Amino acid sequence: MKKAILVCFFVLVVFGTQFISAATWRSRVWPQTPEGVLKPHHPAEPEDPEDPVTPLELQGWVIVIDPGHGGTEPGAINNNLGLKEKDINLSVGLLLRDNLLTFGADVKMTRSTDVNVTIAARRNFSNSQNAHRFVSLHVNAAGNTSAKGIETWVDTDAGKIWKDYAQTLHNNIVRKARSYDSSILDRKLKYSGSTPPWSDGRKIGVLRYDLINAPAALIEMNFISNDVEANRLSRTEYQKTLADGIAEGFVEHSTQYNKEDGVIKR
Ligand SMILES: [Zn+2]
Repeated sequence: MKKAILVCFFVLVVFGTQFISAATWRSRVWPQTPEGVLKPHHPAEPEDPEDPVTPLELQGWVIVIDPGHGGTEPGAINNNLGLKEKDINLSVGLLLRDNLLTFGADVKMTRSTDVNVTIAARRNFSNSQNAHRFVSLHVNAAGNTSAKGIETWVDTDAGKIWKDYAQTLHNNIVRKARSYDSSILDRKLKYSGSTPPWSDGRKIGVLRYDLINAPAALIEMNFISNDVEANRLSRTEYQKTLADGIAEGFVEHSTQYNKEDGVIKR
């Protein structure tokens, strides 16, 4: 009888130890979740050499965003709605910056707050940053309060790449804006130095082909002097739509040209 008890005790000790060590082993291999459920690790998918990581579309592109006016220069004003052009330009500019960053662009801004910046300082900043592209953001104004639509400007003396760049940004912002409101008017690409009111020998300063090194475009994003357009411009959702359209323009342009194309070395 004593012998039988000893055997039972021996069996208990041996199997008990093995049960505990198996549980310890399992907990080392499969860490317990807070709920106490054991979960195995899933090994990572092996990398497929046929499927390399795609670089972001605008990786390496230095893009200067230039929100027009600022500080003591409000730009155009809509007194009915209490809107100032400088604020809309900056707001869309900051949204565009965020958007371009998601495509890997190296974004620089001539201003990111409500401050004065001269025309020459905007060009010089772009040149000092070795920008690949420059885009200036404005909203339009006219004495005729029913004037409406989006237009984009480029220097009339600039080369084909500059004009293609401005045209592509323009096509995309208009397409995207129309997805928000199909009534938005396409006022087309216009040429600083040959399209009125910039046809009397004067030119838009920030776009000067002889002074700025990067392909440069200026977008007039609707009319603040038109209450319907000004009201739409004041909405964050519409501002995001405009920024999306411009960003899509940059991506399309990057499928047609390399970042160095059209950049002037002086
Ligand atoms: Zn302006």
